[in-house]
Amino acid sequence: MTAERTPHVVIIGAGFGGMEAARRLANAPVRITLINRENYHLFQPLLYQVAIAGLVPSQIAYPVRTIFRHQKNFTFQMGEVTAIDFDAKFVRMNGSVLAYDYLVLAIGGETNFYKLSSIEQNAHQLKNVDSAVGTRNHLLAMFERASREPDPDRRRALLTFGIVGGGPTGVETAGALAELIRLVILKDYPQMDLKDVHVLLLESAGHLMESYPDGLRKATYDLLVRKHVEIWVDTRLTGYDGEKMTLADGREIAAHTLIWTAGVRAAELTDRLGLPQGAGGRLVAEDKLQLKGHPEVFLVGDAAYLVDQHGKPLPMLATVAQQEAKAAVDNLQRMLKGQEPKAFHYKDPGLLATIGRNAAVARIAGLSFSGFIAWVIWVVLHIYRLIGFRNRLVVMINWAWDYFFYDSQVRLITKE
Ligand SMILES: Cc1cc2nc3c(=O)[nH]c(=O)nc-3n(C[C@H](O)[C@H](O)[C@H](O)COP(=O)(O)OP(=O)(O)OC[C@H]3O[C@@H](n4cnc5c(N)ncnc54)[C@H](O)[C@@H]3O)c2cc1C
Repeated sequence: MTAERTPHVVIIGAGFGGMEAARRLANAPVRITLINRENYHLFQPLLYQVAIAGLVPSQIAYPVRTIFRHQKNFTFQMGEVTAIDFDAKFVRMNGSVLAYDYLVLAIGGETNFYKLSSIEQNAHQLKNVDSAVGTRNHLLAMFERASREPDPDRRRALLTFGIVGGGPTGVETAGALAELIRLVILKDYPQMDLKDVHVLLLESAGHLMESYPDGLRKATYDLLVRKHVEIWVDTRLTGYDGEKMTLADGREIAAHTLIWTAGVRAAELTDRLGLPQGAGGRLVAEDKLQLKGHPEVFLVGDAAYLVDQHGKPLPMLATVAQQEAKAAVDNLQRMLKGQEPKAFHYKDPGLLATIGRNAAVARIAGLSFSGFIAWVIWVVLHIYRLIGFRNRLVVMINWAWDYFFYDSQVRLITKE
């Protein structure tokens, strides 16, 4: 078969979905071009570790070109896709166009501030390397400023850390930050009075961890309280000016830090494609993961909207993105052979979230775990899923160091 006749598969997004799709096409009779805004794949589930100075970015991000170095049918292009012509079958990027025979759209999601502009302008978020490093620099700067602040009210405000969103990311961040302060920061700032420090976790619903069973919600709550996180449920934030949180009931809380983890939506490009969108701007996919009227276009991951057999949208999770990518690529290969594509069914592998240094909650194969056993499961799974052998080893050494010496090695305030 000549190069010209080999079908060209363009994959947009080197996240969990796009990477899985490219890998699974390694032996297929296609040419692959993977396009991504950054030159690396980012393991987002560990971003909060960068924000709390537990890991450095290079431990959770890995260059795409290195990962696919040995895949013969693979090409990478770094750039931002700004438009797609679904009829003429090309994508526009870096001022040029790229034609495709098949397209896998895996552009992921971004933080949803629900049009609360003061929060969007002043809060920190955990979505990419820059935002996580920015959060780390800010947190560490707050301890420095507090250490030389004579006014007790201002000092308390500098040491009040609001985290909004009682889902896994908010819970993981709050638990890890509270622990960082007690186990590590206190050693660096022996004059710091713990009475001035407040890690507040705000959740607008009546409980934490919406998608978890009751027993694990309670375990999460208890574990966080034990780690000195103050949990405010039924509490809705309506504004934040950088120094003060305003709640729906009118209360104001002085806090120089707010980390917003309360919402995700599909990546911005989804709003510019003129396609049908579901909740959170996600692009509506048919049951075989194709775009209606364009069977050569597959939608996967956070940017795709697909409901399960109960009519509930599939969650924005790495596991969903990976399973969808595998199914999409299987369907693409069926089409290459002139076969009918098959409908996608998500298999829920369970739930898992860590709460600080040695505790987690997990639901696997219908069984609930909490505490140390769940944490060991979490560590093993996250190390296993990190791409690149060197990364795994370095992260493992880092965590072992933190674990045994109650220390964190990366407390650096750097230029962003
Ligand atoms: C802080 C945090 C913690 C999380 N924790 C967990 C967890 O514990 N477990 C879990 O299962 N899931 C977790 N998730 C969710 C998980 O990371 C996402 O569901 C998953 O990344 C979705 O994969 P994706 O391939 O759809 O998109 P992504 O992984 O987001 O990748 C999309 C890629 O597309 C690129 N892109 C976007 N627009 C363009 C464009 N116009 N042009 C070029 N490139 C573009 C982006 O730069 C990105 O590299 C977490 C997410 C966050 C933010």
